[in-house]
Amino acid sequence: MPDGALPDIASLDADGLSRALGDLGQPAFRQRQLIAWLYARAVDGFESMSDLPSALRSALAERYSLVLPEPAEVRHSSDGTRKYLWKLADGVLVESVGIPVGDRLTVCFSTQAGCAMGCTFCATGKGGFVRNLTPGEMVWQVVLVAREFGTRASNAVAMGQGEPFNNYDATLGALRLMNSKSGPEIGARHLTVSTCGVIPGIQRLSTEPEQFTLAVSLHSAVQATRDRIMPGVRRWPLDELQQALVDYTQRTGRRPTLEFALIAGVNDTPGEVAALVDFARGWMSHVNVIPMNPVVGAPGQRPGDASVAAVAEALSAAGIETSVRTERGADIEAACGQLTQRHRPSAG
Ligand code: SAH
Ligand code: SF4
Repeated sequence: MPDGALPDIASLDADGLSRALGDLGQPAFRQRQLIAWLYARAVDGFESMSDLPSALRSALAERYSLVLPEPAEVRHSSDGTRKYLWKLADGVLVESVGIPVGDRLTVCFSTQAGCAMGCTFCATGKGGFVRNLTPGEMVWQVVLVAREFGTRASNAVAMGQGEPFNNYDATLGALRLMNSKSGPEIGARHLTVSTCGVIPGIQRLSTEPEQFTLAVSLHSAVQATRDRIMPGVRRWPLDELQQALVDYTQRTGRRPTLEFALIAGVNDTPGEVAALVDFARGWMSHVNVIPMNPVVGAPGQRPGDASVAAVAEALSAAGIETSVRTERGADIEAACGQLTQRHRPSAG
């Protein structure tokens, strides 16, 4: 925060908002009103919060800044998917994707600007880490995308830029605000966190009271391959990851998804598929096979449809619950990180 700048209201989670209002001598119900103005109606200033006393509106405006993300670019895919590039209060750029399915809308939001994990196939990973997002910056992505679609979001997934468990508290704060009756009110099971395999985060999530959904980006069950394509998670080896996931299912009774983006010649070979079967078999897993989205300047190509189908069939034949994610938004570069990468001057 620059000298003299006010703290950002978006950096507060629901408890933080309660404390801020308590410090101003306000009754507890004001927190619900404030959450509604910030994250259900997403107004762009305290003065618009018409059911708050005007002295409170002024007091908030003197103490906090409130700057909604601004759309720097919106791209519409022919399949209905829309990709958003947001400019945050400090000028940092992050992206979100809106994916309509029937009358439902899933919003994929970012939890960090950039990412420190360095996965080789991921445009975000290539660009390095910029900063953590605040809870409000995450909730606003979801609310503003839904507003642009003229509807409400039925689902939100932390699968945009960033590793959510490297920004655990803010991400949980955002999920709780999204889940809040005063906010966007998205059901906990319709809120998904995707991690590259940060085990302490998986363990912590299993102790939270809400039934949030967990996805884990596996991408290889062969340690040497995973170390190569996902260097940032080397310190959490596959055997410990599997144990953490088994513990998670036992503790929560919920089924995590294993994301498996197929990269031609890298993780679609018979040896890789056998290792994946070994990893996923015998516990409550679900494997989501995804043909990889090629990223400009990064190694890795999408395998052919026959190869994708063969992997899915091998998993199903081994008794593993499997789905194949259909590609959405390929014509607007809707893979993780692609739009922001295009906007970085150095990326050419
Ligand atoms: N950091 C978290 C969440 C953000 S990435 C994670 O890694 O899970 C969201 C998903 O997009 C992850 O499953 C990630 O592995 C995947 N992904 C990244 N780049 C991709 C690409 N080029 N093609 C397909 N999936 C990709
Ligand atoms: Fe980060 Fe996820 Fe991309 Fe890996 S795949 S670099 S963890 S955003």
